[in-house]
Amino acid sequence: MELVINGLSKTYANGVKALDNVTLTIPTGMFGLLGPNGAGKSSLMRILATLQEADAGTVMLGNIDVLRQKDEVRKVLGYLPQEFGVYPRVSAYQMLDHIALLKGVINNGQRKDLVEALLQKVNLWEHRKRRIAGFSGGMKQRFGIAQSLIGEPKLIIVDEPTAGLDPGERNRFYNLLTEIGENVVVILSTHIVQDVQELCRNMAIINKGQLLFAGAPNDALNAVKGRIWEKSIAKSELEAQLAQHRVISNKLIAGRPVIHVYNETRPDEGFAAVEPTLEDVFFSHINGTAKTVVA
Ligand code: ADP
Repeated sequence: MELVINGLSKTYANGVKALDNVTLTIPTGMFGLLGPNGAGKSSLMRILATLQEADAGTVMLGNIDVLRQKDEVRKVLGYLPQEFGVYPRVSAYQMLDHIALLKGVINNGQRKDLVEALLQKVNLWEHRKRRIAGFSGGMKQRFGIAQSLIGEPKLIIVDEPTAGLDPGERNRFYNLLTEIGENVVVILSTHIVQDVQELCRNMAIINKGQLLFAGAPNDALNAVKGRIWEKSIAKSELEAQLAQHRVISNKLIAGRPVIHVYNETRPDEGFAAVEPTLEDVFFSHINGTAKTVVA
C-alpha cells in the first residue's frame, strides 16, 4: 500500500502558507520527512492523520481517499503526535487497556493479550503499573508507539519523536521503530538529520511548505557529491567567507569555525573536498543552493 499525495496545499487564516502544492508518493517502510522548524511538517502530518483540513489537493492511501473518508483512515491509522498534552495519572497498563477498548477491542481476553504483548514489545512491561505522568521522555515515546500500534495500523505517523530524548533513549526508540513491519507506511517527521540517516529507506526534504527533494538518502548524497567543500577558518574571517561563498553550514570545532560550502568546483586553495553527509544535503537544500531534485 502506498500513500499518494497530489498538489496538497494549506494556508492558515493568518496568511501563512504551510503547504504549497506538495506532490509526493510514500512507499511502505520507514519514510523520513525532514525540514527545519516551521517547514510545514506538522501541518502535513495533521492533514494525513485527519486532524486538519487541506485547502486543495488529494491524498490516497491505497483505495482510501484520506481527505474524504476520514473514518476509514482512522481505522488504519497509528498516530504519535509531537506532544500528548497532559500525561494521564493512570498506569501504562490501564491507559493502553482504555485506548484498546476505545479502538474497538471489546473482547476482554483479546484485549488483555494485546495490551500485554504491546507492553513487552516497547519494553515497558516492568513499568506497567506506574503512572505515565512519571515516565521519562523516552518511556513516554515508547508508550506512544504502543498505543499507536493498537489495531494493526497500515499508516503510522510519528511527529518529531526524538526531540528531548537522551542518546540512550533515542537508540531504544530507533530500535523499536525499526521493528515495526516493513509492510506498513511509517512516516517519521523530524528536523534531526541523524534520525533519517539511521532509519529511513526513503526521504523527503521540505521547507517553507515546498517539497525540495524526494528519494532515497543515497540519491540525495549522490546529487551533491563533489560539490561540498570544507575549510577551517579564523573567527575574524567568518563574515568575509559568508559574503564570498555559498556557505551551507558553519560549526565551531575546537573553538574554530569550520565552514561547508556548496560549489561546483573548489572555491579556492584553502578548501578541501569532503564526502557529503545527509546534513550537507539538508543544508544545501534549505539554504537554497542545491537544485530541486524530485526523484
Ligand atoms: P513544522 O512542523 O515543520 O515545524 P508547522 O506545520 O508546524 O511546521 O508550521 C508551518 C508554518 O505554519 C509555520 O510558519 C507555523 O508558524 C504556521 N502554523 C502552524 N500551525 C498554525 C496555525 N494553527 N495557525 C497559523 N499558523 C500556523
